[in-house]
Amino acid sequence: MGKVQTFKTEVSQLLDLMINSLYSNKDIFLRELVANAADAIDKARFEGLTNAAHNREWAIRIEPDKDNKTLKIIDNGIGMTEDEVIENIGTIAKSGTKAFLKQLEENKNSDVPELIGQFGVGFYSAFMVADKVEIFTQSYKEDAKAVRWSCDGSPEYEMQELEEKRERGTQIVLHLSDDC
Ligand code: ADP
Ligand code: MG
Repeated sequence: MGKVQTFKTEVSQLLDLMINSLYSNKDIFLRELVANAADAIDKARFEGLTNAAHNREWAIRIEPDKDNKTLKIIDNGIGMTEDEVIENIGTIAKSGTKAFLKQLEENKNSDVPELIGQFGVGFYSAFMVADKVEIFTQSYKEDAKAVRWSCDGSPEYEMQELEEKRERGTQIVLHLSDDC
């Protein structure tokens, strides 16, 4: 059992919005998650310029599993440490989150897919199609442990460091909702 932590208020609001209001744009989740995977590979490639050990046969894989109703988006990019998962995904206020909510509030006819990209809240669009999202990630940093993060859309998420090192990079596991 991992540590259970609560999202900042804005993140909870954002999650609620993704799950309950923005459903007409569901398909953008894939664009956002693949964009994140590509960003992670860009960062790793940059590290590879000064340390060839960081280089890989760069790849983003998308794996559907019909039996288990999951979709995995897998990259071999930079990965995240536990602190980075907390900072990038969870507790710390992401500046974009507040601005995104404000913009949406003020302008109900906003182009939502456009806004999601613009305000850097793309990861959460996963919750438009998934009722549970897991992240398995291994940072490129030498001493970093692999991390599992999991959230079922409630304002809490669970996180733990894993004993076993994993292949470097990030695996996003979407447990698809029944209607998706
Ligand atoms: P943005 O991409 O605009 O920063 P997102 O909500 O899409 O906003 O992602 C938030 C952050 O989470 C990213 O900036 C990055 O630091 C981290 N992140 C998301 N997906 C990955 C991934 N596949 N590999 C590494 N880091 C990731
Ligand atoms: Mg993104």
